[in-house]
Amino acid sequence: MEMKAAVMYGPNDIRVESVEKPACPRDGLILKIMAVGLCGSDIRNLTSDSRKGNYPFIYGHEIVGVVDEVGEEETKYQTGDRLFLFPGTYCMECEECISGHSENCSNKEVASLAGTGGFAQYVAVKGEKIRRGGIYEIPEDVSFEAASLGEPLTSVFACLENVKVEYPDVLVIIGAGPIGCFMAQLAKIRGAQKVIMIDLNDTRLEMAKQFGVDVTVNSSVEDPIEAVKRLTNGKGADKVISATPANATQTQSIHMVKKGGLVVFFGGVPKGSMTELDCNLIHYNNIWIKGHFGASYSQSKRAYQLAISPTFPTEKFITHILPLDKINEGIQLTKSGDAIKVVLHPWDIS
Ligand SMILES: [Zn+2]
Ligand SMILES: [Zn+2]
Repeated sequence: MEMKAAVMYGPNDIRVESVEKPACPRDGLILKIMAVGLCGSDIRNLTSDSRKGNYPFIYGHEIVGVVDEVGEEETKYQTGDRLFLFPGTYCMECEECISGHSENCSNKEVASLAGTGGFAQYVAVKGEKIRRGGIYEIPEDVSFEAASLGEPLTSVFACLENVKVEYPDVLVIIGAGPIGCFMAQLAKIRGAQKVIMIDLNDTRLEMAKQFGVDVTVNSSVEDPIEAVKRLTNGKGADKVISATPANATQTQSIHMVKKGGLVVFFGGVPKGSMTELDCNLIHYNNIWIKGHFGASYSQSKRAYQLAISPTFPTEKFITHILPLDKINEGIQLTKSGDAIKVVLHPWDIS
């Protein structure tokens, strides 16, 4: 049987076409994908040579859908079940998993079960993934679109929890993309006193204001380091998160934080690139620098529950719902800052 999928053939070469529908694993299932979010990392991957010539490939990891087929040995789920697939898969047996940080799982075989292939009408889920966990049911009264926010929210949720953003923090977020907007909203839920959002794009900054941002700074108009100093009585912020794919914002971030403050490198930068840092400033100002990627199972579950809770402003985040064959348009809308979150529908294809 055939299905439609958005297949990547190379950087910026994404074609929606008919491909073979995956076979149902004996101990797994086939999920009919009802919605799939377009992630910042998808955009980075789809527009660069992310697989070093190894194409065709189907990206997409913010996957929600309905069980369409179950293998004869699969007993946990049934046809018709509505599921959210957290793309991380952890063994829960290695030292890192047992320490409570399963996002650092060292079991490579299990990590290779990570969900992808979501820009399609169906995806196969292996039995091993089902047994290892990270699959959550979607209640009947929750929309597929809302549930799909569980994934992008997860990493932000984990980051702010790990670095304990809370009252009375003054938090700087560099990058008003969807992730920056999630960050602002979550920082406010956690009690941050003041959120300062920095970006180059006025459209994005304007949109970010609905998510609890107190002050916006357009860094193409005003020096962002000076602005943060001005807004913090010359001291710098308690915490600064660089949530862009640019090395330059990492360089800037350590100049915006107070003595003894914390800087997080959240956004991935181009592969192999190096960031210049004023290391004496880090040394004399007792600055902490932390990287962030992913989330533990515990955090993914709680972030998912937040995403599907009625109080979470899902509809403000999802600015565009597009058919899968408009994926290229979705990429442009996100890049230009006209969209916050784009969710794709694989079954609305024209
Ligand atoms: Zn994502
Ligand atoms: Zn592990």
